[in-house]
Amino acid sequence: MMSETNSSIQSTTGRAAPDFGADVIDGKAFAANLLQRIKQDVADLRATTGEVPGLAVVLVGEDPASAVYVASKRRETLAAGMNSFEHRLSEETTQAELLALIHRLNADPAVHGILVQLPLPGQLNSDAVIDAIDPAKDVDGFHVANAGRLAVGQQALVPCTPLGCVMLLKDRLGNLSGLHAVVVGRSNIVGKPMAQLLLQEDCTVTIAHRHSRDLASITRLADILVVAVGRPEMVKGDWIKPGATVIDVGINRISRHGKTRLVGDVDFAQAGHAKAITPVPGGVGPMTIGCLLENTLEAFRRARAPLLKSMKKVS
Ligand code: NAD
Repeated sequence: MMSETNSSIQSTTGRAAPDFGADVIDGKAFAANLLQRIKQDVADLRATTGEVPGLAVVLVGEDPASAVYVASKRRETLAAGMNSFEHRLSEETTQAELLALIHRLNADPAVHGILVQLPLPGQLNSDAVIDAIDPAKDVDGFHVANAGRLAVGQQALVPCTPLGCVMLLKDRLGNLSGLHAVVVGRSNIVGKPMAQLLLQEDCTVTIAHRHSRDLASITRLADILVVAVGRPEMVKGDWIKPGATVIDVGINRISRHGKTRLVGDVDFAQAGHAKAITPVPGGVGPMTIGCLLENTLEAFRRARAPLLKSMKKVS
């Protein structure tokens, strides 16, 4: 394990010191390329069909963090050349009012993706709201139909964060077949779909969680270690096998020496013996919006498949 003084090895920008052995995976640059590719695809679709994908985002209440997320989603959606439909509802919105909006969006042919920003105010049942979204427009991939399709290996819309993690892993490692992947965390939005995606890539997958015993002895087996728990710097250097590829999903705000900063679930400074690692910030985080737009594009393509097929025949 590395010494405590090495905790200064990672600057606030997520860059590593020159003697840090692991490659630092630049999620920001990868996401910028992904957004560029999506923009080009949307421009091509506009030129051939006269149509572009549309993403509807629903925000209920005044939560400041949610408002920031929604604003940045709108900005990126428009930058990609897609239509953005924003619905801001009051904090007092009832379940019936929200469901009525979801039903309208389900029926609207200009809307190909629907995202309801979570968390919702306490009077609303988020499971019932997600259930009401047409699975074909469920670009967050949270609907039980999409979770089920993913589990049985059918075509599904996949939650954005794990989708981004797999993209980064395949970019780094190429074929993942036969590698031992350990996923720490079993939430429905990250851990479980992450494990399903890695299984689809023919990894041997272990899922660990808060009840797992001797976690370090499990994570040490990993060729690919994905950590999504929400505990600052929980994974120490000696939990990581030399040469492993580490994907740190955690986003934790901590105060140290009178300053607040973001750290992941992995003690980055101690991970220099990994093959590669995502920093926090600048690793997995920037991929999420890119994957949301990728899902919206995919939902559009599936909805307009007959049109796109007929146009291919003509050209
Ligand atoms: P969650 O709270 O829903 O799930 C946490 C999981 O971690 C649970 O399955 C729990 O069993 C496990 N866990 C908790 N303590 C543990 C311990 N001591 N040992 C082993 N396992 C433990 O969280 P989530 O929504 O999956 O998010 C996890 C982290 O990822 C959070 O920090 C969150 O902010 C971050 N996150 C980041 C992105 C992104 O875009 N980068 C997206 C989603 C979540």
